[in-house]
Amino acid sequence: MNSLLTHPCRRSQAAEQPAVFASKMVDMLAVPTFVLDTNCRVMVWNRACERLTGVGADEVLGTRDHWRSFYAAARPTLADLVIQHRTDELDKLYLRATGQPDADAPLCVESWCDMPYTGKRRYLAADASPIYADDGTLCAVVQTLRDMTEEKAAQIALEQLATRDGLTGLANRRCFDDTLRAEWSRALRQRQPLSLLMVDVDNFKAYNDANGHLGGDECLKRIALAVANEMRANDLVARYGGEEFAVILPNQSLKGAAIVAERIRCRVERLRVPHGAGIERHVTVSIGAATALSAADSEPCQLVAIADAALYRAKHMGRNRISLPLTEAL
Ligand code: GH3
Ligand code: MG
Ligand code: MG
Repeated sequence: MNSLLTHPCRRSQAAEQPAVFASKMVDMLAVPTFVLDTNCRVMVWNRACERLTGVGADEVLGTRDHWRSFYAAARPTLADLVIQHRTDELDKLYLRATGQPDADAPLCVESWCDMPYTGKRRYLAADASPIYADDGTLCAVVQTLRDMTEEKAAQIALEQLATRDGLTGLANRRCFDDTLRAEWSRALRQRQPLSLLMVDVDNFKAYNDANGHLGGDECLKRIALAVANEMRANDLVARYGGEEFAVILPNQSLKGAAIVAERIRCRVERLRVPHGAGIERHVTVSIGAATALSAADSEPCQLVAIADAALYRAKHMGRNRISLPLTEAL
């Protein structure tokens, strides 16, 4: 602004009608910007805001309808919250909120918006800055917007890569380890049981030999989906490695875990995937279960070891079955 005003040609134009010049400048800003007065009516709606929302300035200026440009159902924008001193609601309304309403730095929030007029889903960051009159009273709030959709999509893709197994789309081993540790601590804190299932495909080496490695991959995908479809929202199914899956069952007793294990076993059997190697007709799984009951002096890896031992017994007893620990739960 200063550099514009000090240029000799522009100084005279800008000095003639500073209010007109300022209004033109805001209109031409590349950053989507709108301004609300203290009654939450739209005073400014610049061209970048029109491009982002698909809503023209003539449709919103002087109204309180600006929210319709961002949301299908009525809800305040960040600027409304600042004007109405409702910034304590930020965490409820947005995925991410930073800054202090009274500090110099603007308030910043982020969230997904299904833009009603453009029909596009955008991840928007919004900054709001209050404008005060000389006597210190609030006279308006300016809100600027940044379209962060591409950055957010890249972040989600990276998170997927870090936590998902590429073949099956299930949680990967690293995600399993982290989740087991977190659930273990929670179970201890809340004095709840924590159960674990280790699920291993029977005679899978022979399946690969008969159907090829790509055929084996397809089979693993079908089994992964079948196991995942048996789970509740709080359970976690992970690809533990190779043809082995692990299922974390928070707040589940050994009896409950045995029921889930049997459901998984039956579901895989019902897929009736031909085995093709002459050992058995269809692909089956063996499952070992383990449960920890407020095990303050033990470690998550002990739960894995117990479930693994139970799995080994299920294999030993002939496969296509579930097995529970011989000793009491941890
Ligand atoms: P068991 O019933 O005792 O579990 O016998 P198994 O043949 O299933 O067990 P083994 O450990 O001998 O063989 C596991 C096989 O799983 C060998 C390996 O090639 C195959 N496998 C591991 N990961 C993959 C994968 O990602 N894709 C495919 N197609 N095969 C895999
Ligand atoms: Mg196996
Ligand atoms: Mg195995």
